[in-house]
Amino acid sequence: GPATDDELLEGLNPEQREAVVYRGSALLIVAGAGSGKTRVLTHRIASLIKGGEAWPSQILAITFTNKAAAEMRERVGQLLGQVAEGMWISTFHSACVRILRREAENFGFTKSFTIYDSQDSRALVKRIIKDLQADTFGFTVAQVTGKISKLKNELTDVESYARQANFSDPNDAMFVEIFRAYSRALRDANAFDFDDLISQTVYLFRAFPQVAEKYQRRFRHILVDEYQDTNHAQYALIRELTKPPESNELAGIPAFGGGGASLTVVGDSDQSIYAFRGADIRNIVEFERDFPGARVVLLEQNYRSTQNILSAANSVISNNFDRKDKKLWTAVGDGEKIVGFTGYSGHDEAQFVADEIAKLREGGMAYNQIAVFYRTNSQTRALEEIFIRSALPYRVLGGTKFYERAEIKDAMAYLTSVANPFDGLALRRILNTPKRGIGPATETQLASFAERENVSYREAMRRAPELGLGPKVTGAILQLAALLDEATELVTPDRPGGEAPVSEVLALLMEQSGYVKSLRATRDPQDEARAENVEELLAVTKEFNRNNPDGTLLDFLTEVSLVAAVDDLDDSSGTVSLMTLHTAKGLEYEAVFLTGVEEDLLPHRMSASEPGGPAEERRLFYVGITRAKKRLFLSLAMTRAQFGETAVAMPSRYLQEIPAELIDWIQSPGMATSRGGSEPRALNANRGRGSYGGGSRWGNDSGLGIPPGPPRPKTEWANRVTGQVRDNGDLELQPGDRIRHTDFGEGRVNQVTGEGAKRVAHVQFEAAGPKKLLIKIAPIEKI
Ligand code: ATP
Ligand code: MG
Repeated sequence: GPATDDELLEGLNPEQREAVVYRGSALLIVAGAGSGKTRVLTHRIASLIKGGEAWPSQILAITFTNKAAAEMRERVGQLLGQVAEGMWISTFHSACVRILRREAENFGFTKSFTIYDSQDSRALVKRIIKDLQADTFGFTVAQVTGKISKLKNELTDVESYARQANFSDPNDAMFVEIFRAYSRALRDANAFDFDDLISQTVYLFRAFPQVAEKYQRRFRHILVDEYQDTNHAQYALIRELTKPPESNELAGIPAFGGGGASLTVVGDSDQSIYAFRGADIRNIVEFERDFPGARVVLLEQNYRSTQNILSAANSVISNNFDRKDKKLWTAVGDGEKIVGFTGYSGHDEAQFVADEIAKLREGGMAYNQIAVFYRTNSQTRALEEIFIRSALPYRVLGGTKFYERAEIKDAMAYLTSVANPFDGLALRRILNTPKRGIGPATETQLASFAERENVSYREAMRRAPELGLGPKVTGAILQLAALLDEATELVTPDRPGGEAPVSEVLALLMEQSGYVKSLRATRDPQDEARAENVEELLAVTKEFNRNNPDGTLLDFLTEVSLVAAVDDLDDSSGTVSLMTLHTAKGLEYEAVFLTGVEEDLLPHRMSASEPGGPAEERRLFYVGITRAKKRLFLSLAMTRAQFGETAVAMPSRYLQEIPAELIDWIQSPGMATSRGGSEPRALNANRGRGSYGGGSRWGNDSGLGIPPGPPRPKTEWANRVTGQVRDNGDLELQPGDRIRHTDFGEGRVNQVTGEGAKRVAHVQFEAAGPKKLLIKIAPIEKI
C-alpha cells in the first residue's frame, strides 16, 4: 500500500530528509554519484502530494532520459500507492513536445508537426547545400548541422546570428544563407528539429506571455535531475517557467502566495559529460546567484558502491582541477577488488567479458544486473560477435539502432506523411520508394509547385495533372496521393469509432504502396532482413496500441522520435545491457564492465583538441566507474581494430590514477605463454606515481609509427597493466612462411602489408581460418 509519512522519510539520512521536507522557493542538492539525489527527488514529489501541498498536475519533474522518467514514475507510484495521473515526469524534450502540440498553432505550426532527428536534420542540410550549390569551404554537413545545433542551444536564432555575423567572411556569409534556408525549410515542413523543441518553446513563452502564464500557473513545483547537464536553452526554459505569473494579482489567486514555482535541482559537477552538446556547468555553479535565497544541501554518503569502487572513483576525479573536493563515503565495506584485464585484441577482451559474465551468472547474478560500457559504438561489434557465439543474452541500448535503419525510416516517413501533409522531407523520401518511375526532376517540380501555389506537398501531388508530366508519372503520383488520403481518413478523430490503431494504418500503407512486396521480390538477403524489420515495426505499433488504447498516430510518432539513447520499447529483463558511457548516466548495476580503457578511446582521440576535453573524458570515466555496485571490471586490448585498421593501443592515462592496490590484474590467456625476449612479469611491482621515464618499450617504439600517446608510463607499470608487452621487433615474414600463434595454432602467411610497427601479416590458419595480425606484437613465432 501507499507509504505513510514516516515511511517516506524512513530510509533517508538527515541531509536527504532535510531536502525532502524543505519548503522554499529554490533548493539545490549537490552531491557525488550514488548519494541518493534521484531518490530524494522522488521522495520529495511523493511528500508534496501526500501532504496535500500539491496536485499531481502541479508537478513538473525533468529527467535526463525517458527511461529515467519511467523509473521515477514507477517509484512515485509505489510511494503513493497509485500512479499519479496528470503528473508530468519526463525529459525536457517530451515536456516541450507536449507544450508545443498544444500551443504550436499560436505561431504558425499545426499540432501535427514532425520532429526531425539528427539524421533528418543532416539530410535537410545536405539538400540545401546542394540546392544552393553552396561552397561550404571544406566543412562537412555534420559540422554545419553541429554549428546550427550549438547556436540553437544558445538561443541564437538565424536572424540574431546574422546581425553579428561577419559578412566579409565568405564562409560566414554562406553559413548564414544555409542556416536561413534550413530554418525556412523546417517551417515550411511544419517541423521542429530536436534543438527547436526546447528553443522554440522558450521563444513561444517570450512572445506570448499569456501562454507562458498558463504553464507558470500550472506548474507549482519544478524538479530537475542531472542539472549539471542542462544547456542554456533548457536553463532559459526553467527561468521562464519559474517566473511569477504576471497577472497573478489581477486574477486574485492567492493559493501559492503569488510567487513563482518552487524549483528543486540536483546535480553533480563531476558528472557533467555533455559539454559537447552545449551543457553548461555554470548552471549549477551559479545557481545560488540565479535564484537568490536558495537552500543548498550536500549529500556525502554513497549508498551504491563498495569502498574499493568508490575509492577508485574518488581518486580518478581528484585529478580534475577547479573542482570542489567531495568527501564521499560508504558504509558498505571494501568489497572485492577491481579486476583489470588486458586482451591481445578487442575479440580477446570481449571473450574475457563473456567468460566473466558466465562466472557471475553461475554465482547467481541475474543478467539484467550486468552492464558492459564502451566509449564508442564501433566497439560493440567484437562484443556482439562473442556474445552471440557464447549464446549470451544481451541487448544494445541506444546507438545506430532500429529507428535509424533505412527501411524503418521509410516506413516512418509514410506515417509522417499521413500525419503532416506539409512535410516535404518525408514525402520526398517515399515519393519513389518503392520505385514508381518518379525521378528527381519531377520531385523538384512538385516542390516548387507547392511553394509557388502555397499549398502542402500533398496538395501539390493531388494536382499533379496541372504539371504537364507524362501520363505514367502523373498516374503514379495520384495513386500515392490517394493512398495517403485514404490513410489520413483512418486517423481522423471524428471518424465513427475514433482513430484507427496505428498498426492498421501502417499495414495499409506498407501493403498498398507495394513497399514490402518490393523488398520481398529481390533476391538480396539484406532485403529479406529489411522486410523482417518492417514487420518488427508493425509489431511495435501493435504493442503501442496495446499499451495505449487511445494512442493516436501523433502519439506514436512523438514516442518514436523521442526514444532517447537509453530507451528501448522492449525492456526485457533477462539480458545483459550494452551501452556507451554517455548512456550509462544515472543508472546502476551490480556488475559493470568498462571496456576499451585505452588512449584514443578514453580519453577519446577527438577530445585532445577540445578545450576541457580530457577533463570531460575523465568525468565520463568517473560516471562509468560509479555505476557499479559490487563488481567492477576494467579491460583494454593491446591492438584495436578501429577506423578500418588495426592499431596498437595503449593503456589509458586514467588507469594510473587508480591506486594500484585496488586492482587485480589478470593476463590475457593469449599472453600467458611467455615468449623469448619478453620481460618478466612485474604484476606486483610497486609503481612510482607521477614519474614517467623514457626507457619503456613504448617510449622506445615511438619512432616506429606507434601513435604518440600519453606521458610514457614506467616500464613496470606498463607491464603490469598489459601483461608482457610483446615485441617481435624485426621478425621477418614472407608470403609462404609458416608460423605458430598462441591462440590460433599453425598457419601460412599469405601476404605482408604495412611498414615498421604497423606491418600486418595476412595469415591463413589451419583451424582458425584467415586472420590479420600486427606482426610486432602478435604472439607468433616462425616455424
Ligand atoms: P547518480 O549521481 O549516479 O545519479 P544519485 O545521487 O542520483 O546517483 P540514487 O540513484 O538516487 O543516487 O541512489 C543510489 C542508490 O542508493 C540507489 O539504489 C538508492 O536506492 C540508494 N539509496 C539512496 N539513498 C539511500 C538511503 N538513505 N538508504 C538506502 N539506500 C539509499
Ligand atoms: Mg541520479
